[in-house]
Amino acid sequence: TGKFFVGGNWKCNGTKDSISKLISDLNSAKLEADVDVVVAPPFVYIDQVKNSLSDRIEIAAQNSWIGKGGAFTGEISVEQLKDIGCKWVVLGHSERRHVIGEDDEFIGKKAGYALSQNLGVIACIGELLKEREEGKTFDVCFQQMKAFADAVPSWDNVVIAYEPVWAIGTGKVATPQQAQEVHIAVREWLKKNVSAEVASKTRIIYGGSVNGSNCAELAKQEDIDGFLVGGASLKGPEFATIVNSVT
Ligand code: 13P
Repeated sequence: TGKFFVGGNWKCNGTKDSISKLISDLNSAKLEADVDVVVAPPFVYIDQVKNSLSDRIEIAAQNSWIGKGGAFTGEISVEQLKDIGCKWVVLGHSERRHVIGEDDEFIGKKAGYALSQNLGVIACIGELLKEREEGKTFDVCFQQMKAFADAVPSWDNVVIAYEPVWAIGTGKVATPQQAQEVHIAVREWLKKNVSAEVASKTRIIYGGSVNGSNCAELAKQEDIDGFLVGGASLKGPEFATIVNSVT
């Protein structure tokens, strides 16, 4: 599989001051060369980040509109994101699915449009605790995968993030075995439903309570190709440790 990929999803956190500190910590951190590193600031700070963060780190948006801009109050278009220097967008995040109420079809439209405009997509999937307890983890993840697969023109510019909802922001990280089991199942799903080439090339990263202490064990798993980090990505040195957990 491809190059190790580590994304920092800052979610709805930060101020001009705290972000300026985080940028300076990231600029002075030593990051392994062979890792793709991306951060996703809140929209309003993207320009600040773009202007002061080292080009070593790419920028993702945390959302994008389903099509061209226009009369869509409060939305941000893919074209605008590209205009200010974003290379990626995070779509299908559990907070957008379960807090904001986005469904598979809407998320698929966003993914399809972003990719059609050459904006990379970090496509998030993952089950709720209840779904895991009912033995539905694979069904849920495959259903979410199918919605992406039905909508995307190509997988070249897609990174899949498996983020079990019960592990997000809870401090309850999936065990390396729990994560690996889903990652390999998703890869098998891609092989069966898309192609062997896409299955072997597409990065499948893990998210959910990843930190500087648990990243190394997770990174050793065969099918874990990187991480999507929330809370720990707000601390520059710890985020660097996670980036450098590449094996
Ligand atoms: P935490 O790392 O804070 O659990 O968040 C994970 C996440 O949702 C990244 O997108």
